[in-house]
Amino acid sequence: MSERAFLIASKVEAFVRDVVIPYEKDPRVAVHGHGPPEDLVQEMREKARAASVLTPHILADGRHLTQRETAAVLTKSGLSPLGPLACNTQAPDEGNMYLLGHVGNEEQKARFLSPLVAGEARSAFFMTEPADDGGAGSDPSMMKTECYLDGDHWVINGRKAFITGAAGAKVGIIMAKSKDGACMFLVDLPSTAIRIERVLDTIDSSMPGGHSIVTIDDLRVPSDQMLGMSGDGFKYAQVRLSPARLSHCMRWLGAGIRAQEIASAYACRRYAFGKPLIDHEGVGFMLAENLIDLKQCELIIDWAAGVLDSGSLGTVETSMAKVAVSEALMRVADKCVQVMGGTGVSGDTVVEQIFREVRAFRIYDGPTEVHKWSLAKKVKRDQSSAQA
Ligand SMILES: Cc1cc2nc3c(=O)[nH]c(=O)nc-3n(C[C@H](O)[C@H](O)[C@H](O)COP(=O)(O)OP(=O)(O)OC[C@H]3O[C@@H](n4cnc5c(N)ncnc54)[C@H](O)[C@@H]3O)c2cc1C
Repeated sequence: MSERAFLIASKVEAFVRDVVIPYEKDPRVAVHGHGPPEDLVQEMREKARAASVLTPHILADGRHLTQRETAAVLTKSGLSPLGPLACNTQAPDEGNMYLLGHVGNEEQKARFLSPLVAGEARSAFFMTEPADDGGAGSDPSMMKTECYLDGDHWVINGRKAFITGAAGAKVGIIMAKSKDGACMFLVDLPSTAIRIERVLDTIDSSMPGGHSIVTIDDLRVPSDQMLGMSGDGFKYAQVRLSPARLSHCMRWLGAGIRAQEIASAYACRRYAFGKPLIDHEGVGFMLAENLIDLKQCELIIDWAAGVLDSGSLGTVETSMAKVAVSEALMRVADKCVQVMGGTGVSGDTVVEQIFREVRAFRIYDGPTEVHKWSLAKKVKRDQSSAQA
């Protein structure tokens, strides 16, 4: 790890452990709601700003840390489910900032990116569409939301689903289909043409605004708010998707480490049948297997991050990492719950929340099966070219 990454990561870790973790017991944190309220987020961000750990993965001159450095920092921010929110390293903002930084022009960056980097605004990414409409989900090419040019404005119509943080966000990145193909637009939120039908009740509770179903009705967007070129939307989505899915792995690794810490402490202090739980082989093995899984997660993230740092899109490598890490951390969280008995399924520790929330990670940013399916296609391609 580089020295600057080590220093930033150490500061972030100290901040999360000393300042953020106590907020986990704050009564404002919803247990099964639609995420922490805005005032709590801003209060934590004030403290992060004062501690110089707000948006720690983006340097003062606007450059990003390398992906390997980002891994060190985001993993520490993930030690609490509130950490990424406090430090402004959370999804979807972190991925949206990355996309805007790489694809936005100077005007777009000044208007839409700056408030995000400053932690003053939240953003939402509008790609998925309701399954009942037959819209984009695992297969983004099924996108039904349409856009057409009318004078110097684009007009957008459609419905979107699972839009994280749409309620309360100030910046939106909307994907729609023109006659050229997929497009991306930057929009100010809220907008009267973007109606939140409902916020879904989901398994997780750490994202402000929750996840919404949204109707977009004759939204008029000035043409200079298109991100890049008409028809290139999926190309830009790819720029965002590989690093974004890897940064989910980074934050979730932090959560897995924290769950393991809590479960290990429990197993060492709790007695059953005359000895600490850790001395019962069944318990010791569960925690040992977790150590192995956590180390493997760290190594595959580091490897995939290195591939991105080399300039590659890293599609294959981040798919492999996303499957390996999301599946491993589900196992880790499940074992932590088991080691802690009844306490593990109670809200007395954050292990219960981590267990619940990591479940969704196996679905968003590409379900495990979709990544495996695309990897299988690569196996077939490689086989065909070897035979040719
Ligand atoms: C908590 C959460 C937050 C989200 N936030 C956002 C957001 O902010 N913005 C946004 O645009 N989207 C968001 N999403 C949506 C997410 O990206 C989609 O849920 C995901 O792409 C899967 O689409 P789907 O739900 O329509 O599942 P479907 O496409 O209906 O797929 C269902 C299941 O089918 C299986 N499957 C699909 N294709 C294949 C295949 N080729 N091979 C084998 N099995 C397959 C998989 O097991 C998959 O889980 C979020 C989702 C969740 C759960």
